[in-house]
This record gives sequence, structure tokens and C-alpha cells, in this order.
Amino acid sequence: MKGKKKNGAKRQATDGNGQGAGFPKGAELELFIEDMGTEGEGIGKKDGFIFFVKDAVVGDHILAKAMKMKKNYGYARLVEVLEPSPYRVCPPCTFHRQCGGCQIQALDYRQQLKFKEDKVINNLKRIGGFLLLEDIPVIHPIIGMDDPYFYRNKAQVPIGMDKDGKVVAGFYAAHTHVIIPNRKCLLGAEGNERILDSVVSFMEEYKVPAYREEDGTGLVRHVLIRTGFSTGEIMVCLVINGGSLPYAEKLVEKLRMIKGVASILLNRNERNTNTILGEETATLWGQPFITDTIGNIKYQISPLSFYQVNPVQTKKLYEAALEFAGLTGKETVWDLYCGIGTISLFLAQKAKQVYGVEVVASAIADARRNAELNRIENVEFFVGKAEEVLPEFYVKGKMEPSANAKEAGGYGGSADGMLHPDVIVVDPPRKGCDPKCLETIVKMQPERVVYVSCDSATLARDLKYLCGEGYGVQKVQMVDMFPHTVHVETIVLIQKKTS
Ligand code: SAH
Repeated sequence: MKGKKKNGAKRQATDGNGQGAGFPKGAELELFIEDMGTEGEGIGKKDGFIFFVKDAVVGDHILAKAMKMKKNYGYARLVEVLEPSPYRVCPPCTFHRQCGGCQIQALDYRQQLKFKEDKVINNLKRIGGFLLLEDIPVIHPIIGMDDPYFYRNKAQVPIGMDKDGKVVAGFYAAHTHVIIPNRKCLLGAEGNERILDSVVSFMEEYKVPAYREEDGTGLVRHVLIRTGFSTGEIMVCLVINGGSLPYAEKLVEKLRMIKGVASILLNRNERNTNTILGEETATLWGQPFITDTIGNIKYQISPLSFYQVNPVQTKKLYEAALEFAGLTGKETVWDLYCGIGTISLFLAQKAKQVYGVEVVASAIADARRNAELNRIENVEFFVGKAEEVLPEFYVKGKMEPSANAKEAGGYGGSADGMLHPDVIVVDPPRKGCDPKCLETIVKMQPERVVYVSCDSATLARDLKYLCGEGYGVQKVQMVDMFPHTVHVETIVLIQKKTS
């Protein structure tokens, strides 16, 4: 049965290379959602033709409207849920369809976890060519959250003016810079609403204008709020289009009343750009940073510092990484893509020596400061690309062992440990490891590689390479760091095969 034609709409193909199996744009169709795509869209078939439907969940029977048609598939918009899936829940946030922040809030949380497990396993099979059990002996059940809301320790809230001239704080509607007012994001820390209320009431009371993107006038662009979940310390940073904020002392007065506020800052960003923060930050009151802990390691966090956004799950992720690394206190470890050294410091507690590599210089400055703060001395950080730093050490070490010995010896390590570490941990960005980095890892012949990944497609690709070079996958552990989104973190233990 074909979709109903509305008002004699012509059959058409929008991309010019197909007929969309005869579904005109705007045609209404009934679909059973059989599966979900990697971006969380529902997938349904009509006459063998596949439709992707945002906001539909697996098991739904829906009415949808055909939108963009391609040769073999199309996109449809959810019009009505005719019969809800047993996995459909009533999303607690009324903005879940407008806001790009959550993709699968309407899917029961247990089913979200299953969706993520399936996504990783499919990639391991399809891209990595792995057989479960045979090639991957152990896949632990995903670690979810007991309470999958209010988990983010960082919020960056755009500030604007509505058409009546009232100050609004909220989120950008998908693919636009139109601000939908909402001070109560259910993923953010619970205290954020009160802080935003104070900032908005301050702006209204003292007629401080919001920034206008259209002509670059006005002042307040964003409010950045960071919360140390373990310490209760809160940072409030106003990003402004200028060097100073009128009546700043009145804002400080209001914010200081809020329990936990330890740092009130101004960040200057006068550029017409999508980058939220500028480079200059001034302290209005309190410290220029807040402190948080993961496990028993302390971290100082500034507005620009990279820091994991879900500290509860980060602890579980790092504990799994530590367990997979199998440290006894004698090992030399490289931590590649180390950011501000969070994993490195965690590992250093149980290793002889840790070397961290990260491309962003300011992150390495944070890493060194955090090592000092925690009095951890058996860790050394290098700025540079993993695919350059690691081969450099390897080549130099092979050619001039004494040079490396001197370099490593100064920090309690050994040249041999540096060149042939016991464990290499990698935590690359979505694009995965550079081939040069993987090649050098293989040359270094560590006993174990612990791969921490935020993209299971590139993870599967890189594992396939390592497994072709004398390594084997031992264990896989997924951790849900971002409930209600489609993202999933995976840790894999890869072991050198004994010949
Ligand atoms: N391990 C850290 C950060 C992981 S995010 C943590 O758990 O907090 C990935 C990091 O890789 C980022 O800090 C990014 O700046 C860094 N990075 C990206 N490309 C890199 C490269 N080619 N070499 C080294 N670091 C890189």
C-alpha cells in the first residue's frame, strides 16, 4: 500500500537521483518502527522502502509525513504516535523534541542502554569483523546510571532578548540560533536554575542588555556554570561582549547568596563567532577556579579547562581502565590523548611511571598543575600529537639509548620502560588513533593496550588493525556517560598474544 497522496501532490524526488519509491514529499504514512539508527532515529519500512523518523522509538506504530526522499530511503517527520511502543516513556522535559541536547529521552532508560550495547556490538562485528566469544571472550553489561538525570557538571546557556525585549536564557532550537527559553535543563546540575534566575533578574533590574548576534551589539552572551559535584563548589562565568559589566557588584551580591558559589568570573568574547568563550577571563569574586575530585584525585577547573562532564560515570570509566591496565606498581605506562591528565593521575597511583601525551598545551599545563596539587611525582607530560611524540621517542630511543635514558631517568623512569612500556592507554577523539600512532604502539610491544573510545566505529577499525598485528581483544566494558543522548563510551582491554 502506498502512502496517501495529499491534494494531488506530485510524486517527486528531491535529490534528483531517485523516485523515492513513489512517495511524494508530504505524503502521510503509517509505519511500524522496527529498529533505531545510530543517531537515535526510528527506522520503519513501507513497501520495502526505509524511512528514518526522528523522535520515534523502536516498537512504536506511528503516523509520519514523508520529507526528504533519497533513492533507497527517506526521512519522515513524526506526526502522531498511533500506538506507543512498550519502551516509550513520557519524557520529563517538554522541550525534548525542539532541543538538540537529548535524542532518545522518550526511550525507556533500560532500553537506551540496550540500544547503546547493540550499537557498539554491531560496529565490532560489522567494521571490526569480530566474532563474539571467539574473538572477544568477554563483553560486560554496560554500566548505566542509577539516576540518569542532573548528571552534567557544566552548562553553557545562551542569553538573548525575546521580541518583547525581555531577557531570555535557554537553548538554541536545532540548527538555529533562536533561543527557546528554558532555565531548567534536566541534564544539568539542579542548582543551575537558581543561578540563571539571579542572572536574568540582575539584567532586568539594572537594564544590562543581552548580546544581539545580528548586529554584534549588547553585552551578555552566555552564562557558563560549572559545578564540582564532590565538593559542591560552583563557578558562574558571564561571557560578555566587552571588557566590563555595569553594576557587577550587584550581580556578585546576588550570586554570593547561593550556596556553593565559589567563583564569579567574566569572560570577554567580542568576536562574531560560534566559539562560546574568549581567551581573557577576569575574577569578579572568589577564586578563578573551582576544585572537584574523582576518586581520591583533586582537579582544579578553570572556565577553559577540559573536564569530563559526568563525574559519577567518569569515576566508573577510570576504575574500569585501571582494572584493565592490571597495574601492580612496577609498570611503565603511556597515556596517549591524556587531556588534563585525569586518567594519567588515576593510573599513576598504581604504576611505577606514567607518561602522558596531549596536543593542547593549556591542557598539559592543567595536567602538570593537577599532578602537583596531588603530589604525584611519577608522571611526566608531553605536548604534541600522539602520532608524532610517540614515534619520536621510539626512533630517538632506538638510535641514542643514552639520550632517552637521561630524559626518562630524570623522572624515575627508564629508557627501556619508555620504549617498551607494559601498558599503553589511548583515549582519542572521535576520529580514533592515527595509523602512525597505532604502528608505533605495535613496535613498542606493550603487554596490554587499554583503548578508551567515544566512537565505536573508529574503535572497531583500530582494533581490527591491532588484532592483525599480534594482539587480541580480551574484554569490553561500555559506560553510559551521556544518558538520553546516543553517545556511549567503550573501554577495551587488548592483550599481546603469546606465540
Ligand atoms: N583522556 C582525557 C581526554 C580525552 S579527550 C580524559 O579522560 O579526560 C581526547 C583528547 O585528545 C583531547 O584532550 C584532545 O585535545 C586530544 N587530542 C586530539 N588529537 C590528538 C592528537 N593527535 N594527539 C594527542 N592528543 C590529541
